[in-house]
Amino acid sequence: MNLALNLGRVEAAIAAACQRAGRPRKSVELVAVSKTVPIERIAEALKLGQTLFGENYAQELRDKHPALPNARWHFIGPLQRNKCKYVVGSAELIHTVDSLALGEAIAERARKLGRKQRVLIQVNTGAEPQKSGCSAAALPRLLDDLRALPSLIVEGLMCIPPFDQPSRPHFVALRELAAAHRLPRLSMGMSADFEAAIEEGATIVRVGTAIFGERSAAPEPTDDDA
Ligand SMILES: *Cc1c(COP(=O)(O)O)cnc(C)c1O
Repeated sequence: MNLALNLGRVEAAIAAACQRAGRPRKSVELVAVSKTVPIERIAEALKLGQTLFGENYAQELRDKHPALPNARWHFIGPLQRNKCKYVVGSAELIHTVDSLALGEAIAERARKLGRKQRVLIQVNTGAEPQKSGCSAAALPRLLDDLRALPSLIVEGLMCIPPFDQPSRPHFVALRELAAAHRLPRLSMGMSADFEAAIEEGATIVRVGTAIFGERSAAPEPTDDDA
């Protein structure tokens, strides 16, 4: 596994997709998804010029953030309210707000730190019962409620399409929802489909495997260090 080669390939694919879509390269941010990736490996990516990373597990972000002072972080995993303290402030953007209760917990933590926290709302575009994210139908109300919280800035939407379906219709649906609510940022697209996501308007793509290689089995988040 050659990190420089992988990053170069992903960067070239992003640039090509931007060109096909008639979009400037600057309109898309690459989040290098570093869940389960050791700190030394992330440091290597930093040296190669990749500065933005995405973590799924609150405790992993808590541990990695102080070790890599030049890195920028997004939080892209499901977040329990009692773990907000590990994420608010260290993550520039939280992609996965899907309930008012979680939004309030994030806002309260941000208020205590004297900060404002930027967030995205995760939408369950596939209406999968087991998946995180608010339904498209519940979005307008949730958005109103979250916009009323002074320490929170809602900047856009995020989705994870069902694994057994083509992604593109979900990307289109998310783009249309965001446009309807004047939300400028769209987090969509992973290793398998980030090029299609860019063609459909993604402003943030979340790419793990294509950069860092196959992950060893992801540890399930545990509650013992809650
Ligand atoms: C793991 C993960 C990714 C990256 O997936 P790859 O297929 O490895 O690129 C992107 N987004 C979320 C929410 C993830 O959990």
